[in-house]
Amino acid sequence: MASAYAVAVHDLLVHLGVPESAFTGGDITVHSPIDGGTIGAVHATPLAEVAPLIERAHRAHLAWRQIPGPRRGELVRLFGEELRAHKADLGRLVTLENGKILSEGLGEVQEMIDICDFAVGLSRQLHGLTIASERPGHAMRETWHPLGVVGVISAFNFPVAVWAWNSALALVCGDAVVWKPSEITPLTALACGALLAKAAQRFGDDYPTDLSVLLIGASALGEALVDHPQVPLISATGSTRMGRLVAPKVAARLGRTILELGGNNAGIVCPSADLDLAVRAIAFAAIGTAGQRCTTLRRVIVHESIAADLIGRLAAAYASIRVGNPLEAGTLVGPLIHGAAQEAMETALARAKADGGIVHGGERVMLPGSEGGCYVRPALVEMPAQTAVVAEETFAPILYAVTYRSLEEAIALQNAVPQGLSSSIFTNDLREAETFLSAAGSDCGIANVNIGPSGAEIGGAFGGEKDTGGGRESGSDAWKGYMRRATNTVNYSGALPLAQGVSFEL
Ligand code: NAD
Repeated sequence: MASAYAVAVHDLLVHLGVPESAFTGGDITVHSPIDGGTIGAVHATPLAEVAPLIERAHRAHLAWRQIPGPRRGELVRLFGEELRAHKADLGRLVTLENGKILSEGLGEVQEMIDICDFAVGLSRQLHGLTIASERPGHAMRETWHPLGVVGVISAFNFPVAVWAWNSALALVCGDAVVWKPSEITPLTALACGALLAKAAQRFGDDYPTDLSVLLIGASALGEALVDHPQVPLISATGSTRMGRLVAPKVAARLGRTILELGGNNAGIVCPSADLDLAVRAIAFAAIGTAGQRCTTLRRVIVHESIAADLIGRLAAAYASIRVGNPLEAGTLVGPLIHGAAQEAMETALARAKADGGIVHGGERVMLPGSEGGCYVRPALVEMPAQTAVVAEETFAPILYAVTYRSLEEAIALQNAVPQGLSSSIFTNDLREAETFLSAAGSDCGIANVNIGPSGAEIGGAFGGEKDTGGGRESGSDAWKGYMRRATNTVNYSGALPLAQGVSFEL
């Protein structure tokens, strides 16, 4: 059945520069989670075409690596301009295809713009070190060179930003990009391709064709990308299950990976915390994006002395939240991506109940006119202990609450899950905050004080430890993952002294 938004999606895609033939008459049907109806039918990339496309991208890289970094940055600057000009349309399309509320759809495009700005500056700063040589008349330095084709595999929940994080850096670093977006969100991927093509057209003749390639379809295409020897780096975002399949394959051919996998993020709430602030931060982190962020707050670990107060306030906040159409102002929770996500939520809540959990919320919400969408009331679950279900990532809005007595115990609970993405502590006690951030504190890639675990800025390196995969993307020095390092030693003397005092007289 066609979605009530099919025409709107059609018009947005055309306006963004996607030819109608790309999203009609194809073999992959795309649904809007808003009402479950169809909004497009895209054409899957034939599996046999993956290798030739990668080879073409490799050739594009050979030309692109010769273009000076700041000139490569100009392409990303132009792309950022296209994103600014089309932010409203692309943000709306994200909402229509993915179901996140409009403000978050727009925020996702803003994140793309931010990483473009970052990458443009970076294009003039791809610098290495000069290093003191132990030998007289010698100079040592390191240089950073383009790597090759970067294979990007992305998840449905950030359908455009994850590609931009990777592409903006990879392009200024002199790499080509082959992108396998989620099969659930191909329309936004087509729109990104069209906007980059507009930028490329303005860039000029030194833009190599096939510098950025799109593979539309299911995981088999991702597998072909992962297996290809001409892809030195695979940057894969998605479930830990996917990461476990991808990592050994890339390792077997001695390729590199950036893995951005599942999270199970906690917030510790201490007796000194500002509870008004904590409740707002927790609500956004736990409920935002309908609990479908890798950094979603899934566990609150609260001191027993304030637990009743915090849970009472959270329950009141949860009860007041509007679940509904993500396009409408005032809605804070849109639909889950599909029925399977809702089933996973129901199963997790049943397990939590069986473990002695007290569940607030979590029921299905039927929206008149959008009965095909999977809307749920976010769930808050008081748990007697951190049981097996709490240690799993259920990709839905479930917040488990457990209590603690000592900070040591709270940190141990926070770290006692397989995942290690993001974490936070709410406290006004300096000792508690610094302990949490210390080597003996949170074991996550992201650790925050008095803000929730979600909503990272692009300036910092993004990623996590343990089952989250260990990759880092976005800001700081994450760019180094997209380049290869060469150490150079130059002898400008007439002598040939050997390192470590070795003598080798002919
Ligand atoms: P998913 O693992 O089902 O799919 C992600 C992508 O991997 C898709 O493009 C899919 O086609 C592809 N894929 C699946 N199996 C593959 C294989 N064997 N080889 C190659 N490619 C394969 O994930 P999803 O349901 O789309 O997204 C939700 C998950 O992503 C959650 O676990 C969430 O935490 C995680 N996520 C992590 C981050 C992060 O930065 N850490 C960001 C966003 C989402």
